[in-house]
Amino acid sequence: MEYTSTRNNTLRETASFAIANGISKEGGLFVPTTIPQVDADFIASLAKKTYIEQARDVLSLFLTDYPAAELAAATEGAYTGRFGSEAVAPVVPLTGNTYVLELFRGPTCAFKDMALQLLPYLLTGAAKRVSDGKETVILVATSGDTGKAALEGFKDVPGTKILVFFPSDGVSPMQKLQMTTQEGANVGVCAIKGNFDDAQTGVKAIFTDPAVRETLARHNMQFSSANSINWGRLVPQIVYYFSAYAGLLAAGKIRNGDKVNFCVPTGNFGNILAAYYAKEMGLPVNKLICASNENDVLTEFLTTGRYNRVRPFHTTVSPSMDILISSNLERLLFHLAGNDSEKTKALFAALAKTGEYTVDGTMLSAIRALFAAGSANDAGTKETIRDTFEKTGYLCDTHTAVAIRVYNEYCAKTGDGTPTVIASTASPYKFSRAVLGALTNESLPSDDEFETLSALEAKTGVKAPENLRTLRGKTPRFTDVCTQAEMEEKVFGLLGVR
Ligand SMILES: *Cc1c(COP(=O)(O)O)cnc(C)c1O
Repeated sequence: MEYTSTRNNTLRETASFAIANGISKEGGLFVPTTIPQVDADFIASLAKKTYIEQARDVLSLFLTDYPAAELAAATEGAYTGRFGSEAVAPVVPLTGNTYVLELFRGPTCAFKDMALQLLPYLLTGAAKRVSDGKETVILVATSGDTGKAALEGFKDVPGTKILVFFPSDGVSPMQKLQMTTQEGANVGVCAIKGNFDDAQTGVKAIFTDPAVRETLARHNMQFSSANSINWGRLVPQIVYYFSAYAGLLAAGKIRNGDKVNFCVPTGNFGNILAAYYAKEMGLPVNKLICASNENDVLTEFLTTGRYNRVRPFHTTVSPSMDILISSNLERLLFHLAGNDSEKTKALFAALAKTGEYTVDGTMLSAIRALFAAGSANDAGTKETIRDTFEKTGYLCDTHTAVAIRVYNEYCAKTGDGTPTVIASTASPYKFSRAVLGALTNESLPSDDEFETLSALEAKTGVKAPENLRTLRGKTPRFTDVCTQAEMEEKVFGLLGVR
C-alpha cells in the first residue's frame, strides 16, 4: 500500500512516512493510492471479534509497512482499559431501526479519543522507521476536543513534545479546563485570539514554513500533526464504521450485505471521510448523511457543488463544528477527481484567492450519489436534545443532537427507511450548560460548571463521566493567550529553540 499527496500525485511514500510527517511538504494531504477492498466474509469475520481485533484487521489493510506484532501491540495498548465500555464504541438502539454509535467513552469524553489513543503508537513506530532518531513535535489546532484528546494521548510519550492552540472564546468551559489543567512534562497549551480557522491556518503556516522546519531540524526535531490532516488520525476512525456494522450483524439487526446509513455531525470532514473510506472498501452503505450546525458551508457544498467560505462565522452550542474550512474535504475531492492532483490544486487555489470554488457536474453527481446533507441551528439543536430525551430517554450532547435533527429531517423528506447509525461524538457533560438549558425552561442554577453538571445529573439520572467530575477544583497550569501572528514565537519558546 502506497501513499501519495492530494497536491502531487507522482509522490509515493509508505504509511509510516505519511504518519510521521503528517502533511506533505508541498502542502497536500497524504492519501492511499488505492483503497483496499474487503468482501462479505471479511465483514462476517469481524462480527465475531473484539474491537481490538477488528482494529488490527482493518488497520493492517492500510498500514502495510507496520509489522503485524507492532499493530497488535498498538491496538491492545490503545483500547485496553481506557474506554469506559468493553465494546470501546458501543452501538445502542435509539428508535425503531435507528442506532447511536457512542464514540465518547474514552478518557476525554469525545470521539477524538478513538484515534488519539492509538496515534502515539502509530507515530512513534513510524518515527523509528523514517525519522532517524528525531524528536517528534506535535502541533495541534483545536476546536476543543482534539486538543485534550491529543494531550492525553501524547503526555509523557518518550521522543515526543506536544503543543496545543485553542481559540480563547471558542471552546466550552469544560473543554478549556480539560486543556489548561493538562499534566505531563512534554506538553504546552496556549489560547489564541480568534476562531478555530485562525488557529488551524496559523498551525498550517508554521508547519509548511521551510525556515521553521530547518530550525527544528537543527535541534533534531521534526513536526507532525495530530489533527485529522494526519492519515494516522483518519485510519483508526475507519475501524468503528466496520465495528458498528459488525455489531448490528452480531445482534441480528441486519443481514450481511444489508445497507445502512451513517449520519455524522461534521466540522473538519474527518469523521465522515472515514465513513466514506469504509464504504469505498466495500462496507454496505446507502447514504452518508453529513450534519452541520449553523456554519453550514458543507450542507451547501454537498447539495450544490459550490464551496463558499465567505460567510458569517457563527459561534454555536456545538463548538467542535464551528468551522468554515473543512480540511479533509480535499481528500474526497482528490479521489472523486480520479486522484487528479492538478484538478485538486486548482480548486484550492481558487479557494485561497476568492474564498470559493465550484466542482464540475461529474463530481457533483458523484457527491450527490454518496452524500445527503443538512444543518441545524442552536434552537433546533436544543429542541432535539429535549425531544430525544423526552421520547426515548437518551441524553445526547449538542453535536449528536445536530446529527439526530438532520437525520429526522432527512427521513421526513426522503422516506428512507434504511437502518441508520448516528455517530455520537461527545458526552453531554462536556456541554452541560447547553444541554441542561435545553432540558429546562427555568434559568440555570449558577455559572459554576460543576454545579451545572450536578444539576444535569439530578435532572436526568444519567451519571457524568468520572474524568470530568474530577476536574473540579483543579488549578489551570496554562494561562497564556497570543495572536495568530505570535504563534511561531510561541512554538519556539515552548520548545526552547531559536
Ligand atoms: C471534532 C468533533 C466533531 C467534528 O468532527 P470532524 O471530524 O471535524 O468532522 C464533531 N463533534 C465533536 C464532539 C467533535 O469533537
